[in-house]
Amino acid sequence: MSELPSVFRAGERVLLIDRRRRRYLVRLEEGQKFHTHAGTVDHAELIGRTPGSVATSASGARFVALRPTLADLVVDMPRGAQVIYPKDLGALMMLADIFPGARVVESGVGSGALSMAMLRAGAVITGYEIRDDFADRARRNVVEGLGEEAASRFDLRVADVYDGIEGDGYDRVVLDLPEPWRVIKAAEEVLVPGGILAAYLPSIVQVSQLREALDQSAFGFASTQEVLVRTWHVEGLAVRPDHRMVAHTGFLTAARLLGPDATQWDRKAEGGIGPGSGSHRRTP
Ligand code: SAH
Repeated sequence: MSELPSVFRAGERVLLIDRRRRRYLVRLEEGQKFHTHAGTVDHAELIGRTPGSVATSASGARFVALRPTLADLVVDMPRGAQVIYPKDLGALMMLADIFPGARVVESGVGSGALSMAMLRAGAVITGYEIRDDFADRARRNVVEGLGEEAASRFDLRVADVYDGIEGDGYDRVVLDLPEPWRVIKAAEEVLVPGGILAAYLPSIVQVSQLREALDQSAFGFASTQEVLVRTWHVEGLAVRPDHRMVAHTGFLTAARLLGPDATQWDRKAEGGIGPGSGSHRRTP
């Protein structure tokens, strides 16, 4: 049995989609009305209806009503900072291997799109965000989008992560900020052995700098990828790629924290120093 209520209830969010596929995110409240240029819909018309139902405005415009997916929420929610888009969120969840109960350090938190993806997968997040207005926005997005239980797993601090990370025993460090290489030392200290550092970066110049810094660190098996998504137009015999695609958003890099005897393990095959060369942290 689905855990979702079978009908829309007051207090929940509903996505209304009109005939031209315009989308409106609405929180249902008794006695409220939803206004668009295409007319007004009473929330009462939706409360108690099943997802997939059609609501009709006073002037006859029709909207299909659905529960928003996480992708709908992150694309449509209010934002301070630019969010990471669903195509990259999905890939990051695999690269960073986010699992229920995973203890994650996240910075910067921005609007909280990545936080929401990780929280919904069951992570327990300690977030560092330097701007208090963005932190407030992210907290609200998490509560409104995922509810109180998820918010209870989201410890968000207004702080500069370059100044250090408190605590230890973290499984993952996930970064979306301009200079992730400045977090490598702290990540080495707070991550469990075998833990993963993952970073989202918009520019390949930043990726080079991160990868060079990772090469000088206790992390190994670094990899970088980007995700290109090409949607298709499928209509009768007109079956072809869509004319437009989101060609570039960012690059995803991940690496694993190795033990002292394994440092540089993965570079041995490339003629690197290899294991057993002594120190935990390679000297340049
Ligand atoms: N991943 C987020 C977007 C993050 S945007 C999302 O999906 O919604 C990058 C954020 O990093 C911004 O909010 C910025 O304020 C924050 N930031 C930049 N430098 C930082 C630092 N040194 N410490 C903490 N946060 C930082």
